[in-house]
Amino acid sequence: MWIELLEQSLELGLAPRSWTDYLYLTVGGTLSNAGISGQTFKHGPQISNVLQLEVVTGRGEIIKCSPSKDADLFNAVLGGLGQFGIITRARILLQEAPQKVKWVRAFYDDFSFFTMDQELLVSMPDLVDYAEGFIVLNEQSLRSSSIAFPANVDFSPDFGTKNNPKIYYCIEFAIHDYQNKNTNGEQVVEVISSQMNHTVSQLYSVEVSYFDFLNRVRMEEMSLRSIGMWEVHHPWLNMFVPKAGIGDFRDLLMDNISPDSFEGLILIYPLLRDKWDANTSVVLPDPGSSDHRVMYVVGILRSANPDDGCSHHCLQELLVRHRHIAATAGARLGAKQYLAYHSTPSGWQEHFGRRWERFAERKARFDPLRILGPGQGIFPRRPLSNDDDAAYGSSAT
Ligand SMILES: Cc1cc2nc3c(=O)[nH]c(=O)nc-3n(C[C@H](O)[C@H](O)[C@H](O)COP(=O)(O)OP(=O)(O)OC[C@H]3O[C@@H](n4cnc5c(N)ncnc54)[C@H](O)[C@@H]3O)c2cc1C
Repeated sequence: MWIELLEQSLELGLAPRSWTDYLYLTVGGTLSNAGISGQTFKHGPQISNVLQLEVVTGRGEIIKCSPSKDADLFNAVLGGLGQFGIITRARILLQEAPQKVKWVRAFYDDFSFFTMDQELLVSMPDLVDYAEGFIVLNEQSLRSSSIAFPANVDFSPDFGTKNNPKIYYCIEFAIHDYQNKNTNGEQVVEVISSQMNHTVSQLYSVEVSYFDFLNRVRMEEMSLRSIGMWEVHHPWLNMFVPKAGIGDFRDLLMDNISPDSFEGLILIYPLLRDKWDANTSVVLPDPGSSDHRVMYVVGILRSANPDDGCSHHCLQELLVRHRHIAATAGARLGAKQYLAYHSTPSGWQEHFGRRWERFAERKARFDPLRILGPGQGIFPRRPLSNDDDAAYGSSAT
């Protein structure tokens, strides 16, 4: 798990550069998707920070691959949804770990200012080490997102009424503080925040250890576990949205959720296309005519609380809503699902779009019997034939 890698590497004063928000995930699991968080704008997703992999392919071969050796297998497996091989070792880029992190939150009541400032932050990779953001839909979303953030947040806005809700936005950014290098995190925060357009006096800054910052979701997990809200269903939808469509996506989202009763978190933050390698298996929206460097990830991270009446029927309704959002955003805005789910092989083909042929060709090469990852429903299992015997030579039984 990434948490174990963090603990081990910190003993040497080092740490990986690119993270997920939650660290109790396996290295092989996140590299099979992409691995994104607030560092992705700066260092790329986790799949852009791998030097070498050891993979057991669907043909049963154990292969060490890298950008310069068996590069096609290396690229196939990164973001490959477990379709081509099982990652058994990974060599990950490390950097010097900072001792402390300046962690800042700023609140907005205007979506355009919110996204404008997020894009400002990701245009300053020399100063900023982490940038994310979320929608503040109701009191609960304000409270639950503040569990790990140890500041006295004095923000109690008017959320309007059920029929006329008011929503807010929060940008979160962080700056690494290498205390042995005479850096002044406080000053850097001032330089950055003086250029931002957040609501007056609604900027909060705290200093925490690097470990606590990276492991912040664990604290939320513990709190949710203590009230029995961790082991509930989590109907989640994650989408990559082109910059040109992010305002429309927000409107689509608001047409399909009830802010007053939403339980969970909606993350929104920008990523930069040029930090992603187009040779990997990951699927991003086509840049389109605007060819813009910025795209957004939006994570609708719901909890379905059975104690509040959200059991089977309600859960099915939420899933239908999410599929509607995904289909509409795909057709109208060119958005693509991250951690995708499609119920049919043709849905997957549409998801991959012009990259489908390469994905299918890689499957035929690295896992011709379609042994790996059948649960994704991308490649239906098929019966063995004489051709398969030939493909496997004498080792096929
Ligand atoms: C609480 C939580 C928070 C999350 N936060 C983030 C986040 O911030 N950013 C982000 O990018 N993702 C996030 N994710 C999603 C996460 O990246 C995926 O769920 C990932 O699959 C998790 O890895 P796992 O160890 O749980 O894999 P599993 O759920 O065990 O596997 C998922 C898929 O990966 C494949 N797979 C797993 N291990 C390997 C391997 N060794 N080799 C090849 N294929 C493999 C499996 O075939 C399967 O298809 C989060 C998930 C959870 C549950």
